[in-house]
Amino acid sequence: MRKRVSKILITGAAGFMGSEFSRQAIKRGYKVIAVDKLSYAADLARLGSAKGRFKFYKTDICDKAKLKTVFKKEKPKIVVNFAAETHVDRSILNAEPFIQTNVRGTQVLLDISRQLNVEKFIHISTDEIYGEIKKGKFSENSPLKPNSPYSATKAASDMLVSAYHRTYKLPSIIVRPSNNYGPWQYPEKLMPVIIAKALKNEKVPVYGKGENVREWLYVSDCAEGIFSILRRGEIGEVYNIGSAVEKKNIVTVKKILSVLGKPHSLIKFVKDRPGHDIRYSLDFSKIRKHTGWTPKVGFDKGIHNTVDWYRQNYDWLSKKVKYLRHYWGKVYR
Ligand code: NAD
Repeated sequence: MRKRVSKILITGAAGFMGSEFSRQAIKRGYKVIAVDKLSYAADLARLGSAKGRFKFYKTDICDKAKLKTVFKKEKPKIVVNFAAETHVDRSILNAEPFIQTNVRGTQVLLDISRQLNVEKFIHISTDEIYGEIKKGKFSENSPLKPNSPYSATKAASDMLVSAYHRTYKLPSIIVRPSNNYGPWQYPEKLMPVIIAKALKNEKVPVYGKGENVREWLYVSDCAEGIFSILRRGEIGEVYNIGSAVEKKNIVTVKKILSVLGKPHSLIKFVKDRPGHDIRYSLDFSKIRKHTGWTPKVGFDKGIHNTVDWYRQNYDWLSKKVKYLRHYWGKVYR
């Protein structure tokens, strides 16, 4: 008997994490319907290796009529929602697009998914919705105390997903990953900013004294975690995906500079980000227990892979950097 091929609609598929998940989905034999509005953060080049093996719709998830047409035509069984405005610093400069995509867009997607009987709705949230934690770890039952406009809109979208599950029985699951890193990340996030600046022998900006702690998860590990949840996660549940790799930003920056063979004297401490969360840390025993998933790529290997990728794709990086100079000037002072 022929195996049934599941159709999966992936929003934000041209982004950093959505593209990794899409590439893996194609390899795993899913029929992929990629949806993305192609914001500044998107790049279809990320899906270049899978060219011709997925369908792409340039669609804004806030555009109900257009999105509904896509759903009616494609009839996806599964929806995975990566689409979001994702950069904390940009949300501090202007929260408006964050409210629009992360809250309104999620609501539009939820409405269409329930009206057209989607069988599984996976919502990609973030560890940032819990706020900061000085000691200990956040479990899935920890209260939501977001501190940035970005994380506030992500928390709002989580609440909408929970409400649609409870009210309309929408078969949804919420996934909360920690900081992702790896190839193809847009150079406004910590690691690619450091790599981009250091490769040009420019000063690398570090907020405050670099004491803030982040939990680093390699992007392919995260995508595998999401697949394990898709297969074995329980409807209506929330799953943290972490790595237990916790590093102060200054440690991460020094590590990257060492791998690049650049001096630590390139570091420049800049005025701290307003409201900067001091530490995130996830208890991810639930995903391990329910699905058997565990991260595979250690920090050392992950950093080497990432640095090598940016070296090999220096042209891609340089093209992005050209458009970022003005923005960098606004946030690193
Ligand atoms: P990204 O910024 O690289 O990509 C986001 C993608 O969404 C882009 O391709 C963009 O064009 C698309 N998009 C934005 N608004 C849209 C809209 N209105 N309609 C359709 N598409 C739209 O982000 P990422 O780092 O890949 O993050 C993906 C998801 O994972 C987000 O929901 C983010 O909140 C979450 N997350 C990210 C991290 C991380 O460390 N990067 C960690 C935890 C959770």
